[in-house]
Amino acid sequence: MLDRLDTNADTPQVWVVAACFNEEAVISNFIDRLNSLVSISRLVLIDDGSSDQTVKKILEYKRNNALFKDKLPLTLLQLTRNFGKESAMLAGLDYVKGHCEAVILIDADLQHPPELIDQMIKAWRNGAEVVTAVRNDQDQESRLKVATASWFYKVFNGIVDSIQLKEGAGDYRLLSAPVVKALTQMREFSRFSKGLVPWTGYQSVEISYQRVARIAGNTSWTPWKLLEYAFDGIFSFSAIPLKIWTFLGLTVSGLSLLYAFWIIFSTVLHGIDVPGYASLMVAVLFLGGIQLIGIGVLGDYIGRIYVDTKARPHYFIRAIH
Ligand code: UDP
Ligand code: MG
Repeated sequence: MLDRLDTNADTPQVWVVAACFNEEAVISNFIDRLNSLVSISRLVLIDDGSSDQTVKKILEYKRNNALFKDKLPLTLLQLTRNFGKESAMLAGLDYVKGHCEAVILIDADLQHPPELIDQMIKAWRNGAEVVTAVRNDQDQESRLKVATASWFYKVFNGIVDSIQLKEGAGDYRLLSAPVVKALTQMREFSRFSKGLVPWTGYQSVEISYQRVARIAGNTSWTPWKLLEYAFDGIFSFSAIPLKIWTFLGLTVSGLSLLYAFWIIFSTVLHGIDVPGYASLMVAVLFLGGIQLIGIGVLGDYIGRIYVDTKARPHYFIRAIH
């Protein structure tokens, strides 16, 4: 094997950043796989408040490796609790900023094949500012998930002007140093990285890959969390959901006015017609529903403003090993 310290002298510093949350089953395997890539110079793991043996396994690995200088240097940032993947990634980016020329963000659960890294680095050395791994494995997901995901992308791209999201482009990326700096400057909460990276405007090159199924452990996504994430995406990149209420209100008022004229006209012609219970109920419930949705959307934006104005730190670090 090549001596990593020697190769570092003339190869650029490419660091790998991965957030881990309860990954005891795969973490050693993950570090092993990265260890065999000589093109990278350091691995930075962020423990996002795991309650299992993840930290212990990483520290064990670090101790064993310290004796060999051809092994991949490893840093562990231990967060004080589970802050969520987006905050954990931000902790990683804050830490590596200014120390390396490119960063690779990858999931620690081995669903992102580490072997793609060499290809990503090659594209970056050919001038790419961002390299995005795009998965082409829709067949592995349930039909419902594929359908809802594609519906989300259509809605998002339809109403957001500033950026276009690509289906399958996730969190497996190479970011050059200026992009890392840009991302760490954006301190908003409810971070939606999928959108933040294209929003910076740096040019991306795409590489397609097959995502593998998780070999162990569980995904932390529930249908509810996915729905919330989808709203995060749309609400943090568009104000259109706020604006449609004016339009909807105008349309409903206009139609009611027409209906009022119709009632006057028909009363004059045929006299008063007493029945009307059903149509009244429908109108009341329909309008009540619409108003509640409107208030809900308002509430969501206000909630975001509330969280952002508190401007709390995104995470706290207990220890750096
Ligand atoms: N993760 C994290 N904090 C969390 C949830 C997940 O750091 O609160 C990490 C997790 O360890 C993994 C990556 O984020 O490395 C992706 O998580 P997961 O596999 O649950 O998501 P999916 O691959 O299904 O999108
Ligand atoms: Mg995963």
